[in-house]
Amino acid sequence: MEQFNSQQNLWGIDLGGTKIEGVILRSAQEPEVLFRHRVPTGADQGYAHILGQLQQLVAHMEAAAGYRPARLGIGTPGTIIPRTGLMKNCNATVLNGQPMPADLTQLLGMEVVMANDANCFALAETRLGVVRQQFPEAEVVFGIILGTGVGGGLVVNGRVVKGYHGIAGEWGHNYLSETEGAACFCGKTGCNESILAGPALERYYAAHSGQPLGLKEIVSRAQAGDDAVATQTMRRLTSLFGRALSNVVNVLDPDVIVIGGGVGNIDYLYEAGVASVSQHVFDQQFEAPVVKPLLGDSAGVFGAAYLVA
Ligand SMILES: [Zn+2]
Repeated sequence: MEQFNSQQNLWGIDLGGTKIEGVILRSAQEPEVLFRHRVPTGADQGYAHILGQLQQLVAHMEAAAGYRPARLGIGTPGTIIPRTGLMKNCNATVLNGQPMPADLTQLLGMEVVMANDANCFALAETRLGVVRQQFPEAEVVFGIILGTGVGGGLVVNGRVVKGYHGIAGEWGHNYLSETEGAACFCGKTGCNESILAGPALERYYAAHSGQPLGLKEIVSRAQAGDDAVATQTMRRLTSLFGRALSNVVNVLDPDVIVIGGGVGNIDYLYEAGVASVSQHVFDQQFEAPVVKPLLGDSAGVFGAAYLVA
């Protein structure tokens, strides 16, 4: 099939907790999707099963494209320790401690470039999403995922910054407040994630109203203005979000900040949240754009493909 081109196509795979998705993009310059396929992860069936699922997905992609590429990008839910090549911090915990990049290179017979899914999100929004379309001059981009967890990725001059320990951009586990936060799965108390993530907001609302509600309902009650606890939940979110983000701005001063995830949809972040950044940042002037992403759920798999661009 002539639309596929082994010299130009980018192959990417997003390894998620429930599904594994693969895409073949036409080229880095023309990121049109030529092929897309999903298989279940089956994480409960163990590490060897996940490797088998990846192998099967790559076989499907190869059958469609008519060739096997030299390199493949994979986004993962955790981090690859740079000097050992072992996985860590994966919520699909069967992956932790496994030499996944080496195992996949051997299994698939190609070079495998792996990165954390928040890094893939930041890379995709930079190379073909909101940054490319609205802020093409940006050099330093900080991509945040604010959802059921809190993650982040740092892209400088179009490339992911991994960091010495592989955790560059892992904003979710910065310390924010012990009194406001709860114990975090990472072993510490008061991380951004334990205060700003969707489940943390729902916990706060339930604890102060005595009524458990989903985040969407809390937000719409705050917008309607007739639920004082919902309003307080949003005030607290925007205030603490600004404090948390100002710590990043003081170190990196990104040209653009992109916020993905369910909590990232809350408009208060872009108004009161940004005002709170100004209050807490070094000279109380904060004018950098803070924007919503454009690529939706596809950012992870597109970013994985751009790992080999
Ligand atoms: Zn933590």
